[in-house]
Amino acid sequence: MMQYKLWINGEWVEAESEATFSVLNPATGAEIANIASADRADTKSAIDAARDAFDNKNWSQDSSMRRDVLLKAAELLRKEVDRLAYLETLDNGMPIGWAKRFVPDVADFFEYYAGLTEPLAEKLDSNSTVHYEPVGVAAGIIPWNLPLKMASWKIAPALAAGDAMILKPSSQTPITALEIGEIFARAGCPKGILNVVTGSGSVVGSELAGSANVDKVAFTGGTATGKEVMRLAAGNLKKITLECGGKSANIVLDDADLEKAVKGAVFAIFFNAGQVCTAGSRLLLPETLHDRFMEELIAETRRLRLGSGLDDPDMGPVISAEQMEKDLEYIRYGIADGAKLVSGGKLLDMGGFFVEPTIFDDVESDMRIAQEEIFGPVLSVLTYSDEEEAIEIANDTRYGLAGAVWSEDISRAKRIASRTRAGTVWINTYHGAPKHAPFGGYKESGIGRELGVYGLKSYLEVKHVYCV
Ligand code: NDP
Repeated sequence: MMQYKLWINGEWVEAESEATFSVLNPATGAEIANIASADRADTKSAIDAARDAFDNKNWSQDSSMRRDVLLKAAELLRKEVDRLAYLETLDNGMPIGWAKRFVPDVADFFEYYAGLTEPLAEKLDSNSTVHYEPVGVAAGIIPWNLPLKMASWKIAPALAAGDAMILKPSSQTPITALEIGEIFARAGCPKGILNVVTGSGSVVGSELAGSANVDKVAFTGGTATGKEVMRLAAGNLKKITLECGGKSANIVLDDADLEKAVKGAVFAIFFNAGQVCTAGSRLLLPETLHDRFMEELIAETRRLRLGSGLDDPDMGPVISAEQMEKDLEYIRYGIADGAKLVSGGKLLDMGGFFVEPTIFDDVESDMRIAQEEIFGPVLSVLTYSDEEEAIEIANDTRYGLAGAVWSEDISRAKRIASRTRAGTVWINTYHGAPKHAPFGGYKESGIGRELGVYGLKSYLEVKHVYCV
């Protein structure tokens, strides 16, 4: 049984109340860790530590220290790929092969932002210069689906910008975020610049989002929680970045490479058991290709190997008993609303929280399984008659995070991409998020963009100096 305390001001500290919570292995349902559960007072002390560290100015004014810390943290991560990947899989359930790829990806990400630590300035004309300055104390609130990656998406730009940060991981998957706190200390990060506080969202997250001593909150999670964070952040008009839910349309055109598009559709929805904000949860097929595509899609899906993440299957468990029940509830909605269940649809008795990869055909756009984010391995297939109808269905959602177009005619695919109301559109691929390209959503999928210089700027204030 692992034990973790809070990481505040460069050291491990008990929660003041000594309260703890348990973390389960989703592949077995067994308890794997006992974690300190912070209350509002603990959270305030992390905010104070971050404020003192930021006000001290050494960090915000020393870009070479920031670069060196980010580079060193990346080096330390690379030395610990196996251990961190094991912890990530134990905690989240993802296949270990993916976890082993993510750790070096995160190291790359820190190295990329190490190259962006120099202060930014733009000369507009002979009078006007724009300077970008650190926003101050930033809070990062993250979900459970890709814990290490989500932690890095908050920490790297915040620290490169010169801010101090308090990170609040999900209570379901806090382990690798806590490990990162200590790794940054070993990399030379000054005390208080990076704090990791665990505990419930309605206490720790809400204190961070509402505190007048926090200047920015970057949130990734569900849309309903994102709205609450925005409401709390209004108290001191915090800067906000919200990366919320999605119901992404994966559009196959009649001239698509069938084999690639089938594999792409399976990866789009079943990667990480569908627990990805960009999951291709709505597959749009042309009438002319429908029957052939479905036959191959079902066959490909039935080939997926399910199992404990540690055995490196194609698909692991879902995160919790609660998520498993949510998936099952949506499967019932699909059946009740008249969609045709053509594959999967059941829970699997494999010891942990396993849901069969599930496909519904004959889905109509107004059904709940076509409108609501399930965040599990459940695919809704909708059929369209022409391009106009495909675009109409793709945009018929309150979300706008991502989507894809599969076609051998790239200009046709780009034309459709340009009419899709989503923050990322892939062509003949799915799920890539290059570190230098903006990531974020239209509509209720969020506010602002992460990654690249776009993400960096969200942790910076803009100052215009006008000199005559
Ligand atoms: P939640 O919205 O439930 O939680 C996200 C984080 O917010 C957790 O750390 C949670 O803490 C915290 N939280 C909960 N309540 C509050 C509150 N009142 N104030 C502040 N913080 C709070 O999402 P999940 O963890 O269930 O993750 C799944 C969701 O995340 C999906 O909707 C998915 O689409 C979205 N997501 C979006 C991504 C994007 O980039 N757009 C990427 C990945 C996921 P705790 O759970 O510990 O109580």
